[in-house]
Amino acid sequence: MTHVVTLNAGSSSLKFGLFELGGSDPVTVCTGAVDRIGEPGTFVKARTVDGEVLANGTPGAMPDHASALDWVLVLLGRTYPECEITAVGHRIVHGGPDIDTPLPLTAMSITALDKLSPFAPLHQPHNLAGVRAAMARFPNAVQIACFDTAFHRHHPWENDVFALPREYYDKGVRRYGFHGLSYEYISDHLAETAPLLHAGRVVVAHLGNGASMCAMIGGRSVGSTMGFSALDGLPMGTRCGQLDPGVLLYLMEQEGLSASEISDLLFKRSGLLGLSGLSNDMRTLERADTRETRQAISYFTFRIRRELGAMSAILGGIDALVFTGGIGENSRLVRDRVCSGMGWLGIELDPDANADNDRIISTNLSRVSVMVIPTNEELVIARAAADLLAAQPNEARA
Ligand code: AMP
Repeated sequence: MTHVVTLNAGSSSLKFGLFELGGSDPVTVCTGAVDRIGEPGTFVKARTVDGEVLANGTPGAMPDHASALDWVLVLLGRTYPECEITAVGHRIVHGGPDIDTPLPLTAMSITALDKLSPFAPLHQPHNLAGVRAAMARFPNAVQIACFDTAFHRHHPWENDVFALPREYYDKGVRRYGFHGLSYEYISDHLAETAPLLHAGRVVVAHLGNGASMCAMIGGRSVGSTMGFSALDGLPMGTRCGQLDPGVLLYLMEQEGLSASEISDLLFKRSGLLGLSGLSNDMRTLERADTRETRQAISYFTFRIRRELGAMSAILGGIDALVFTGGIGENSRLVRDRVCSGMGWLGIELDPDANADNDRIISTNLSRVSVMVIPTNEELVIARAAADLLAAQPNEARA
């Protein structure tokens, strides 16, 4: 049996999956993650698709992504000794202005992707470190890149541009949009399970530690709340979301903050954490129920409602609203707050269905279908690998 390993390397984490190829769709064998790479208390977890725990604990120091990947490979080799790894699929945050599809990776294309690191300095270098480590460990496997920006690359011009002098657009200063693998999964899932909605006007709210929304028509992205960087749009666990650029000038000129201090502030100390002063974790905020945590949740849901209105305007109304991501899939409070008072848009939530995390949480009379669909970015990567291997088996393996 041939298999594909999927890797999703963050700044201090490595998520992975093992999928079996051969059938009509890749089949999940196991998934897991290494967290806190390069920090004290590196934590690992992995379980099979049937829920059997393969790892859960602190295996000792892992100074870098290569050592984390080694741990993953030892685990997979020990648990599935018969496995032949034909391909490794990577989540890569940035593909630049031109890439709208997964790509097989070579040393040359990695160098080209390295040049995009200034566009995503906190993510791209770690993604590529994961690719290099995987190339060294699986020299005979095809390495495949799947880009978070690719799903959004056909936005109308007005949604791709900032009102800056045009030379900056030509230099790549554009609204890229991210979370593309998650949106692709939702789009494919709707195509399979609700083709009429897929053909219509859909807003997807990917609400996790990172959060964004995507407006789709006919399953294709026409707008995203995220722009040039993964900071724009909704407030997130530790990221600020949309900000008046004048605030940056003030921070530099009056507060004397350097570029790296501003980066640290906007990426790591803002959002739900900054507003609550307590945590970036929605479960902690819901439990704490203090003035500050209530305000942090209020700002989060207020901005989602605001963007929902804006997206409905560009779509000319909506047929479905889909919640996904850790918060979207689990927080009935957030979904309730987002949907309440949205009757004018045709949204009517069923409180019992919402409390039960049902797939459809709107009433039968609601004009807009409100849905909860768990995302699966790893499966999107595995599908891309399977398609690429099937389409060009000889070249891809060369
Ligand atoms: P993600 O980045 O998609 O893994 O999502 C992480 C976020 O989902 C964190 O803010 C978690 O607190 C949140 N989350 C996970 N489970 C729940 C839950 N049962 N209720 C509320 N928030 C949750």
